[in-house]
Amino acid sequence: MSLQPDTFKSLVKAAAEQVIASAPELTALDQAIGDGDHGANMKRGFEAVLSKLDTIGAQPLDEALKSIGKTLVMTVGGASGPLYGSFFLAAGEALHDKTLPENLADVFGRGVDAVSARGRSHAGEKTMLDVLVPVLETLKSEAGRPDLIERIRATASESVERTAPMQATKGRASFLGARSIGHIDPGAKSSCLMLHAVCSRLEEGA
Ligand code: ADP
Ligand code: MG
Repeated sequence: MSLQPDTFKSLVKAAAEQVIASAPELTALDQAIGDGDHGANMKRGFEAVLSKLDTIGAQPLDEALKSIGKTLVMTVGGASGPLYGSFFLAAGEALHDKTLPENLADVFGRGVDAVSARGRSHAGEKTMLDVLVPVLETLKSEAGRPDLIERIRATASESVERTAPMQATKGRASFLGARSIGHIDPGAKSSCLMLHAVCSRLEEGA
């Protein structure tokens, strides 16, 4: 089985619509430990992705992922734009001549590595990587299991909650020092929302 273009489009649409609908929640999280623009940043970026979805969906999957990455870099702004942009650009490069879903962990892993390289960050610093890295681990360890989608959903939810007691050491929240403790990281939440949207759409049969 390989990922069909219509399925891909449907998954991107689901993730984009979820992020756009959740902009107020992302803004509120960023108001607590950042500058309050994460919701607006992500909404702007994913509205741009949606507006190009027909063009993007007509491209080969690797090019489509790279187009999403470029669109996010150009439109999101803030730290999260280049970071999410890097994720999709690197995932597209990794996909190149590989097929999905067989190589999903590899492709996702290259995206995660790119975020880490661009952000000079790693898991444990209260960022989006605190969701992306555990989800990558689940993709690797649970590959082939019938409940993989459920495991990804659960990992993402649990990982977001685990950012609350962390002290931020990267991004704007790190300026707050110990005062960043007790709040969920906005980027971890947006990653979780996108992953949940993709999981739900896959369960619905995309
Ligand atoms: P900005 O911080 O420039 O206002 P956003 O509010 O859109 O940008 O995004 C903030 C999110 O970006 C944070 O919640 C965090 O998840 C993520 N982030 C910030 N810096 C880094 C980094 N160096 N590595 C990984 N993620 C980061
Ligand atoms: Mg912000």
